[in-house]
Amino acid sequence: MDKVIVIRYGEIHLKGRNRGFFESTLVKNIKRRLSVVECKFSQLRSRYVVSDYADCDESKIIDILKRVFGIHSISKAVCVETDINTITSTCVLLSRDFGTFKVETNRADKRFPMTSVELSKYLGGKILEAHPKLSVDLFSPDFTVNVDLREDGKTFIYSEKIPCAGGMPTGTAGKGLVLLSGGIDSPVACYMMAKRGLKIDAIHFHSYPYTSAMAKQKVEDLARILAGYCGNIMLSCVRFTKIQEEIHRCCDPSYMITIMRCCMMRIAETVAKTRGCGCLINGESLGQVASQTLESIYVTNARVVDTPVFRPCIGMDKEEIIETARKIGTFDTSILPYEDCCTVFLPDSPVIRPNPVKVSEELAKIPDLDALIDEAVRSIEVVKIS
Ligand code: ATP
Ligand code: MG
Repeated sequence: MDKVIVIRYGEIHLKGRNRGFFESTLVKNIKRRLSVVECKFSQLRSRYVVSDYADCDESKIIDILKRVFGIHSISKAVCVETDINTITSTCVLLSRDFGTFKVETNRADKRFPMTSVELSKYLGGKILEAHPKLSVDLFSPDFTVNVDLREDGKTFIYSEKIPCAGGMPTGTAGKGLVLLSGGIDSPVACYMMAKRGLKIDAIHFHSYPYTSAMAKQKVEDLARILAGYCGNIMLSCVRFTKIQEEIHRCCDPSYMITIMRCCMMRIAETVAKTRGCGCLINGESLGQVASQTLESIYVTNARVVDTPVFRPCIGMDKEEIIETARKIGTFDTSILPYEDCCTVFLPDSPVIRPNPVKVSEELAKIPDLDALIDEAVRSIEVVKIS
C-alpha cells in the first residue's frame, strides 16, 4: 500500500488535436515546480501521480500543486494492486468508524469483472460489516470512499478531493506583460490572465526618490507571490521620475494622471514588443477611480498602437477583487502603506472625462517626450523573480 498524491487536470480534456501540447506543457511545469522536493512523478492515462516522498514533505507538495495552473484537483490517496481482496481490506482500513458514507467507483479498467455500481455496493457492504456504527447516505454523506481502478492494474483509494487553481498550463497561451503596481488590483489581474495559460512578464514604474526603496521591494514581493502560480517572472523596473517631473512642470495639473497613464501605456507597449509579449494586462476596473472611466480608458488605450490590452478586473467590484486577492495571497502585501508613483504629485481634482484633443495637446507640451521615453526604456532594470 503506497501513499501517493493523485493529480487530475481539467479543461485540457476538451482539447482536440493539440491536447498533447497542453499535456506536455503541464507535465513540464509540474516537474519544474516539484524539483525543490524529493519525490517521483509518473504519468498514467489522464492521471498523474506523485509518490516516493517523505511524510514531512506531503503538505509542501500539496501546496505547490494547488498553485499549478492546469491542475483541477488532487487527492491524498493510497495505491494498491487491482485485486478485490486488497481493495476491500484497504477501503475498510481507511473508513471512519461512525457517521454516514458512500462508495464511489470509477472503473477505467474494463477488464475488472464487476461494474462500477456492483463494486461500490460490494465494498459498501464490506465497510458496513466492519464498522457497524456507519450508515450509507448516497446524497450527502459525511465522507466518500473513492475507488479509482486505472488501466494499468493499479487502484487508487481516497476520500477527499482538494480543489486546485484550475485554468490552463502556463505558457500554452503565449506571454503577456502585466503593469504591476503595488496595489490590490493589478496582482489579481495578473493571476486571472496567467490562469488562462499566459506566461507572465511584469513592468513596474517607480519614481525614486519620491517613492521609496520599500515601495519597489513591495512590488518584488508581490511578483514573488505571483511567481508561485505562474513560474519565474522577469520584472522590468522603469525609472519614471524624470518623465513625471516633466509632466508636472509642463501639463495642466488636472491632466497629470491621465498623461502619466498615457506614457506608461506607451512604454509598456515598447517593452512588450522587445520582450516578446503579445498583450498588455492591467488592473483597471470600470469607474473605480477618475482614471478608470470610459473616457480615461479610451485616451490611455489610444497610446497603444497594435497590442491587445486585457483588463480582467474591468467588470469586478472592489470587494470581488479583494476576495480574489485574499484567496491568492497578495492582499496583505498589497495593503502595506508604501506610496505608488501615481500618488506622487497627485492633483486636487483629476479630470474624470479627459478630452482626447486636449490629451494630445498636453502630451505635445512636454519637450522631447520621445527622447525621455527612449531613455526610460534604455535604463530599465530587469529583475528575475522566482
Ligand atoms: P492597483 O490596485 O492595481 O494599483 P488601482 O486601483 O490603484 O490599481 P490605478 O492606480 O488607477 O488603480 O492603476 C490602474 C492600473 O494601472 C493598475 O492596475 C496597474 O495595472 C497600472 N499601474 C498603476 N500604477 C502603476 C505602476 N506604478 N507601475 C505599473 N503599473 C501601474
Ligand atoms: Mg494603484
